Amino acid sequence: MSKILIRGAKVLGGEPQDVLIDGETIAEVGAGLSAEGAEVVEAGGKVLLPGLVDLHTHLREPGREDSETVLTGTRAAASGGYTAVFAMANTFPVADTAGVVEQVWRLGREHGYCDVQPIGAVTVGLEGRKLAELGAMHESAAGVTVFSDDGKCVDDAVIMRRALEYVKAFGGVVAQHAQEPRLTEGAQMNEGVVSAELGLGGWPAVAEESVIARDVLLADHVGSRVHICHLSTAGSVEIVRWAKARGIQVTAEVTPHHLLLTDELVRTYNPVYKVNPPLRTERDVLTLREALADGTIDIVATDHAPHPHEDKDCEWAAAAMGMVGLETALSVVQETMVDTGLLDWAGVADRMSFKPAQIGQATGHGRPVSAGEPANLTLVDTAYRGRVDPAGFASRSRNTPYEGRELPGRVTHTWLRGKATLVDGKLT
Ligand SMILES: [Zn+2]
Repeated sequence: MSKILIRGAKVLGGEPQDVLIDGETIAEVGAGLSAEGAEVVEAGGKVLLPGLVDLHTHLREPGREDSETVLTGTRAAASGGYTAVFAMANTFPVADTAGVVEQVWRLGREHGYCDVQPIGAVTVGLEGRKLAELGAMHESAAGVTVFSDDGKCVDDAVIMRRALEYVKAFGGVVAQHAQEPRLTEGAQMNEGVVSAELGLGGWPAVAEESVIARDVLLADHVGSRVHICHLSTAGSVEIVRWAKARGIQVTAEVTPHHLLLTDELVRTYNPVYKVNPPLRTERDVLTLREALADGTIDIVATDHAPHPHEDKDCEWAAAAMGMVGLETALSVVQETMVDTGLLDWAGVADRMSFKPAQIGQATGHGRPVSAGEPANLTLVDTAYRGRVDPAGFASRSRNTPYEGRELPGRVTHTWLRGKATLVDGKLT
């Protein structure tokens, strides 16, 4: 097996060290390690992190291969420093059976850029009426542990309760897309000053918060685990903080775009800013950053949502909701959390690797950078600053809100079980 010596990297942002990879495993971490028989990667000044884990990715295959495929999506993931992604179930057909989740899982393994852990649908066809075959998906080769109807809210309280009861039996988790459907009928953007001025249908914060409040109470009642997808309002933070203080088993994620962008951008009417949940206010953004720093929000998840050009290049009302995110996530987190002093690199490793792997039970991922662990690693040039150029994306889609924006940080290398998937910023 091949040996790789990563020389002088700041492991989790700490003192420079050498990391020796032997085959699929980290063999040794220390100062002045011998390079004998090893390929050397000079990493002076760069930060070495455990491979990132995304609990919320839309890979679009099967069914919408014009937006993304497992291959292009996992190449985008490797490019962004990820070694594992959880693929949402809203594909065509829906990932609501053992057959579909196994297919997606297998494609990820075959391509070899990034492990793909399928998320199973909570209800058949995401229709919200009948529980999907949660047990069969869990027992399949894909070993599904996370279930979500993401894109849609599980709004029926009885279905949500049953799902929580069901996954409790095998220690799974239900990931909720919290959006009260009646309160968001015709909604086009955050409900507030800007929506009133623009005359666009408003998406009130209470539509998210009321579902989160109900679901933490249901999780408490059942004694099961609930995960809140893409939390976007200050009020949602308050509810999660309250629930955690009560000992309720709730975890929550925030997207990079909700840490940086506000609803003021909707004034441009550029559909690239149209997303679900919508961009909120500056007060929400600042509260989300603080909550991620203090651990109320557990993780950063991308909600990578690729759409083809024609679905975004149209008027605001007709445009699809969503943004790509895998290739810019770490840069946005550096900009909003590290360069602002809210989080150090160990904190980033926690929020983008350790915790998401733990919530999703991604075996072999989110492990410490130490001897004997699987060599899932990402190397970041944190001193870099540059403009985002979507033309260079590995994703099949280009719907990024950051085109032309200057952001810090650049992932130069990614290793999946010792195999380089990204070298000097280029996919292998
Ligand atoms: Zn969602």
